[in-house]
Formats: sequence, C-alpha cells, structure tokens
Amino acid sequence: MTQFSDLNLDKKVLKAVAEAGYETPTPIQEGAIPPALEGRDVLGIAQTGTGKTASFTLPMISMLHRGRARARMPRSLVLCPTRELAAQVAENFDTYAKYSKLTKALLIGGVSFKEQDALIDRGVDVLIATPGRLLDHFERGKLLLTGVQIMVVDEADRMLDMGFIPDIERIFGLTPFTRQTLFFSATMAPEIERITNTFLSAPARIEVARAATTGENIRQGVVSFKPSRRDRADKEKRNLLRALIDAEGESCTNAIIFCNRKIDVDIVAKSLKKHGYNAAPIHGDLDQSQRMKTLDGFRDGSIQFLCASDVAARGLDIPAVSHVFNYDVPSHAEDYVHRIGRTGRAGRKGAAVMICSPRDQKYFEAVESLVQMAIPVMENPLGSAPVEEDSPSEAPAESKPKRTRSRKKPSSSDTPATEAPASDAPKPSETAPPEEASTKPKSERPKGGRGKRDNRDQVVGLGEDAPAFIRLSFSERRTG
Ligand code: AMP
Repeated sequence: MTQFSDLNLDKKVLKAVAEAGYETPTPIQEGAIPPALEGRDVLGIAQTGTGKTASFTLPMISMLHRGRARARMPRSLVLCPTRELAAQVAENFDTYAKYSKLTKALLIGGVSFKEQDALIDRGVDVLIATPGRLLDHFERGKLLLTGVQIMVVDEADRMLDMGFIPDIERIFGLTPFTRQTLFFSATMAPEIERITNTFLSAPARIEVARAATTGENIRQGVVSFKPSRRDRADKEKRNLLRALIDAEGESCTNAIIFCNRKIDVDIVAKSLKKHGYNAAPIHGDLDQSQRMKTLDGFRDGSIQFLCASDVAARGLDIPAVSHVFNYDVPSHAEDYVHRIGRTGRAGRKGAAVMICSPRDQKYFEAVESLVQMAIPVMENPLGSAPVEEDSPSEAPAESKPKRTRSRKKPSSSDTPATEAPASDAPKPSETAPPEEASTKPKSERPKGGRGKRDNRDQVVGLGEDAPAFIRLSFSERRTG
C-alpha cells in the first residue's frame, strides 16, 4: 500500500499530514500528488469527501516552499465556487502548511477589501478566492496574476452551474501560459470537457468515483406527496417533512434539508423552529458571518437541522450527517448525488429521504435515470388524511407539546391516542421507516425513468476506489 512518505512530498508537509492523523493517502491523493509534483497538469474527477483538497494542497505546499512571494503577485491561485468552500480550503492550507511558513490570503465576499488588499500588498504565496471577488480585486488594480505558477480550479462543475465559467476563462487568460493547472470536478459535463481541453496541457487524468453513483451505505427513499388542496400544498408539505423527520426516530441525529429555492429554505427553517425543531437556514443571501455562525453551530451540534440551498451546501465538509431530506426533488439531477453525498460519509451509514410532489415528476425521472436505480418508495407517514396546518395563528412552539418523534415501538401503554396531535407525532403504526420501504407497483410509485428496474446492486459508490480512511470512524481519523 502506498504511504505518504512514498509520494515525494516535502518533509514539513509529511510532518503536518502525520499530525492530522492521516495514515495512508486516499486514491485521489495517490493518483494526483505524483504528477502534480512533477509539474504536470492534473484533471481530477472526484467529489468532496474523497480527500481531494489535500490532493492539490499538499503538492502545492511542497512546490512553493522554495521561493518568495512578490508584492501583489501571488505565486499560486485556488479558485472555489463558494465562500464556504474557499474558507475550508484555507483551513486545509493552515493545517498542512503549519511548518512551511507560506503566506496566504483568502479573497471572498463579505470580508472587507481593505484587509485583503493589505495582505496582497505584502505578497502572498497562496491566494484562495471565489472568481467574482478575485476579478473585483483585479479590476481595482490591486492584483497581478502574471506571477501565478500554479492554478487550481476546484469544483468546476459547480462553477458551471453558478455561471462562473466565463470568469474562469478570463482568469485563465490573465495567468501565464506556462502555469501548472490542477483542475477538479465531480462530473465532466461537455462544457467542462471543453474548458479542460482548452486550458490544460496533456493532463494526468485521475478519476476516483463514477460521477453519477450514490453511496451504497446510504439508504434512500422517496415519498409521494399530493396536497389535499392546492392552496394548502406548502403547509401540508412542511407537515410531511416533520412527520418524516419524526419517523426516523433517534437515528436522525442531525440532518441537512435541501430546498430548491432560497425562499423555501427560509420558510422551512422558520416553520421547523416554530414547531420546536432546532433548525437554521443557510443560503447565499445570508451574510457571510451569519453563514459561518450557522455552519459552526451545525458542526458543533448546537444546530440539528440545517436547511440549505444547493449552492450554500456545496463542498461543505461536515463529517457526520445522519440524514439528508430532499424537501424538493432537485431540478438538476446531479444535485441529487451531491445532496445525498452529504450523508453516509467516511464509511458511516446514512439516510436520504425525498419528497416528490406531482410537479416534481419530471425531475424525479431525471434523478432515477441518472442514478440508474429505482429509489424505494416509502409510505407517507401521515397517510392520506388531511393534516394540521401550521398557520401563523398557531400557538408558539414553546406552548405546544414538544415533538415526540415516535421513537418508541408501538405499545398500547406508551402510545395513547391523545399523547400528541397526529401531525406533530405520527403514530408509530402509521410510519414506515425506509428500511421497510417497498418498491411499490408502478402505478403507486412516482413515475421514475427507471421505475421498472432496480439496479441497486450496480450502484457502487466509491467501489474499488473506496479510500482506506473511509473505513475508519471520524474520531479515529482525527486522532489516529
Ligand atoms: P475532502 O474531499 O478534501 O473534502 O476531504 C474529506 C475529509 O477527508 C476531510 O475531513 C479531510 O480532513 C479528510 N482526509 C483527507 N485526506 C485524508 C487521508 N489521507 N486520510 C484520512 N482522512 C483524510
């Protein structure tokens, strides 16, 4: 088995890696580090969770430790689609470069230009930025990209979704032709292929997981949702979400709830809070400090339910999420893979539950066709009975009975009918945990593209590429 010490990394980097508790390189690290250290371009096809950040930061630090930065001319550049991801990459740099005395600056929105300008003026070895903010600095004449020797594009497919590709092309054009490029994407859309053909030169291509696969340690389920009346659809959907959360019982230690629209992220978080759930929203319209605070709260467990948009959640390294709830079927099928990839990480078991309303049908078909499996259908824990509304006139959460989350096994003594309103605590007998989810007759299933087929056996997740570390528990990785 390859060891980090076999990879030609600088000694100081090896020391930091050992202190981080990593024992062996992950497949993307094993594949990307050697060509990167030889100065070659690298095309890494890998998702978050595979160790890809270290696969570019470790060789960069090793290569940059010789040489000095000049004022306003960063020696290397890492482009990330979101502020959170950029901040995470910066944290990784701090960990791995702790013995290497490199300087870095983080250029992201929500942080004052003045502070960032001062750092750049002094000269930085590593500049980590979102594309828009980088170009703002460039246009203000505060930055020259002609000294960039190594350029990293992280999560290129997300850059594409967010409309950053023209910015990326422009930034490529501002850096020297001779630069080394390390380019990472979870998927290879035709547009991404075009960019890599244009800007990468004979790259070493390392692919560690098929893009459209979903981890086999993730239990998936979908619930069909038909509102009793159109004007009640939103309220009933929120009730259903709570019932689904409750039906998961104690196993749901924390969850990300994905909504397609930012406005729903806010509404769902507010509604959950009102019903006594510890929830907070995260999306691009919230200011940076608020997003960071929410994320920290979610990481340290003081927030249990994170309601998120795709963009905000992308690339977040939150190691142990027990559940993902798709409040909406994602309108881009690939987001389904990214969303549910937030759970079942590092070898843990995870669960992904999705609500599918009639208007989501075509997206659902696209999802099933992408993941090449029939997503098991779950019973609606509320049955088809009309549900209690969470209208603004409702009593505040404090005065309502706390959710009981129906964890107990049904027994005549502990489930009196009067214990809680039906919508707050579905009776255990009415709930069907996803393990029991049935592949229903086609007429009862959301009509998926692969409705008749069940190719679950073919879904391999990381397959043979599963990195050794994912078999270790998170605490072992941190401390080992
Ligand atoms: P990434 O894909 O870069 O988001 O990394 C996912 C997680 O894996 C992070 O928490 C890293 O700290 C961790 N990690 C990266 N490389 C290794 C390794 N070789 N061994 C153990 N953990 C790792």
